[in-house]
Amino acid sequence: MTKKIFRSSFILGVLVLLLCAALFFGLQIRQTLDETYLALQQEAIYAEHGLAISGQRYLETLGEINRITWISDDGSVLYDSDFALPIANQLHCSEVSAALKTGEGQGIRKSESSGQETMYYALLCKDGTVLRLSRPMSTVRYALMSVSPIFFVLLLVLMISALLSFRTAQQIVKPINELDLDTLDSSPYPELTPLVHRIREQQETIQEQSNEQERLRREFSANVSHELKTPLTSISGFAELMAKGNVPPDLVTEFSSDIYRESQRMISLVDDIIRLSRLDEGGPELQTELVNLYSLAEDTLDSLQALADRQGIRLELQGESVEICGIWQLLSEALYNLCDNAIKYNKPGGSVIVRVGESEDHAAELSVTDTGIGIPPEHQSRVFERFYRVDKSHSKEVGGTGLGLSIVKHVAQYHDAELSLVSTPGSGTCVTLRFPPQLNP
Ligand code: ADP
Repeated sequence: MTKKIFRSSFILGVLVLLLCAALFFGLQIRQTLDETYLALQQEAIYAEHGLAISGQRYLETLGEINRITWISDDGSVLYDSDFALPIANQLHCSEVSAALKTGEGQGIRKSESSGQETMYYALLCKDGTVLRLSRPMSTVRYALMSVSPIFFVLLLVLMISALLSFRTAQQIVKPINELDLDTLDSSPYPELTPLVHRIREQQETIQEQSNEQERLRREFSANVSHELKTPLTSISGFAELMAKGNVPPDLVTEFSSDIYRESQRMISLVDDIIRLSRLDEGGPELQTELVNLYSLAEDTLDSLQALADRQGIRLELQGESVEICGIWQLLSEALYNLCDNAIKYNKPGGSVIVRVGESEDHAAELSVTDTGIGIPPEHQSRVFERFYRVDKSHSKEVGGTGLGLSIVKHVAQYHDAELSLVSTPGSGTCVTLRFPPQLNP
């Protein structure tokens, strides 16, 4: 930025300087030429007077600064201060013909006699002859040279302007560099106020987000500890009783199966926690591949068939073969959780329908519909939160961890899929995953 400001202001300074210099020299040249013409004119007027009084002798007494030529009205040269006669007829010279016509003439041209570029002034005398004074341009240029020291002044001004430009650029950038991003109290320039406001807003949003993340992390840790503590306490209690021999032999099997059930719950919980942590860390390093949702659903329903049979629930798969780009393992876990819930929170004799299809805009859709107990409206937006359960004891009874739907939510986010839930208490629930069309092969 410093470089850019410096470059712009320096270039501007140089341009202004060059413009001023050009103007100055232009005026200087004009003025020198005007002064020279005036001097030649004055001398011509004096010479005319002298000529009228003393004749050609007067011309011969004049100094040698300017060349004097006396020309008759027919163009023949009567006298020349620099060259011996005869000299060619001068009628064709522009200044002479102009003087004969209008009384005076002037111009700059190459002299036929000296070959030098020369300034001419011609004056028509009362007797009809023409007096012409001339001066080589080299002497005029010499006069112009007198202003050459101005070049050094210009060079000096140029250096000063470079220095000032650099200092100015530094001074402009300094307050921006010194801006305290932690406090952002005020902006160094009013023009930067909107930017400073935006940065402050962004900082606040980031702060809020990290606070929220920290809160969720703490809440999750507390919940995990609590969830693990409950089965551990039960296991420890049962084991203690058995160790002390306080359990009648006929109850040992029951106590052992309680211990087994609680430890299974802990294993499911730890498995879910590991899955969630992996997803939290930005997704597992699993390969994205073409996943056929219909085949995936077939496999999932197969693995849950035994559970469904035990509960008297009918499983059904509808739709067609649809492929998406995704992570097979994650999609399989999500669908398993949805179907598992649809069976767990169903009613005896109920059904679970998994539908796989493609919408008109080629978005793959996967839905799990059950005829179960449903979710009351006030809980519907919260069931995707970690450890959130509508009925805690029912969830525990059916072996729930409270993490199933939050894993589904993560998997949906990972695949940019839209997740929606429609549920009517007492009638059933339908959860749909709608994948973006661009994920279709
Ligand atoms: P859980 O392991 O307890 O099933 P989830 O995260 O899978 O945890 O679900 C959260 C809660 O949402 C469940 O405890 C249950 O109350 C409710 N829920 C989830 N799926 C269904 C469903 N298909 N029908 C009724 N309630 C459901």
